[in-house]
Amino acid sequence: MRHNQLPNCRSDSIGGEARMKYGRKFLVEPGSKVRLAGIDPGFKDKHESHEGAMPELNKNAARIANLQYLLYADGSRSLLIVLQALDAGGKDGVVRHVFSAMNPQGTSVFGFKQPNAQEAAHDFLWRAHLRAPARGQVVIFNRSHYEDVLVVRVHKLVPKDVWSGRYELINDFEKMLWDNGTAIVKFYLHISPEEQLERFRQRLEDPQRHWKISESDYSERELWPAYIEAFEEAIEKTSTKYAPWYVIPSDHKWFRNLAVSEIVADTMEGMRLRLPPAKVDIAEIRRKYHAAAEGKRQAGQPQSK
Ligand code: ATP
Ligand code: MG
Repeated sequence: MRHNQLPNCRSDSIGGEARMKYGRKFLVEPGSKVRLAGIDPGFKDKHESHEGAMPELNKNAARIANLQYLLYADGSRSLLIVLQALDAGGKDGVVRHVFSAMNPQGTSVFGFKQPNAQEAAHDFLWRAHLRAPARGQVVIFNRSHYEDVLVVRVHKLVPKDVWSGRYELINDFEKMLWDNGTAIVKFYLHISPEEQLERFRQRLEDPQRHWKISESDYSERELWPAYIEAFEEAIEKTSTKYAPWYVIPSDHKWFRNLAVSEIVADTMEGMRLRLPPAKVDIAEIRRKYHAAAEGKRQAGQPQSK
């Protein structure tokens, strides 16, 4: 079946080494160990500044726009993008950046908050499944079912034997989505504690953003090491060939957007989407068009006396 092409495409499927640059660099190989302390959150590759990266950012945005049009037209596949990060990690910024290249008609975003009463009355994957993309659609999860092995673990909201059994359930769930035609790509936006504090400072100094500040930003920050441990284990246990994790250096917002947009575009290209054939006989429709145009031209001509 066509959709069984791996979503994390290889360079041979998209024609060239130039692409997949960040896909290869930031991919967490299935089965490999993850040590976030060894990954520089300030990495920005060869680029010196946002301006310098603009041509590549624009190119990726154009690729995403074309590919989303194809995904929508193709109608047999869907794409799920999962975003996870610590507070102020830049999830909202990525949503704005990636989606601004897409037609809102084929896209949606869902933010995972503390489960409401109805969600809490179901299994932890229920609300994720409910929001998973339909064929032809792109969905971004801003936070996700991974909260159930992150915040839930760090705050001991369920016993260890419950959260530790969830990695396997998540892998089975994502495999099921993939078997059903959904490509899945998961990003951990990796920021340093210093950059987080700097972003908190900026929020504090900008009255336009005071509404975004919460007490919990500061209490969660104290739990940084516990979150890192939880992220490392989650990423290690759930980076699979059908739903890979990418750890994105995110201290520079523009570099984060560059890497994410390239990986999203590459993933979509690897889906080998195609325009469906026309549902009508185009030659016949062309004749009708010319007849209609000819009729209009004659009707528009001045009456002879
Ligand atoms: P912002 O960037 O605007 O702060 P946010 O994603 O942090 O966005 P909030 O409303 O501040 O949104 O936070 C949502 C909270 O819900 C987070 O603290 C998150 O950990 C928590 N949450 C999400 N899923 C669960 C879950 N399954 N169990 C418990 N808490 C959860
Ligand atoms: Mg928050």
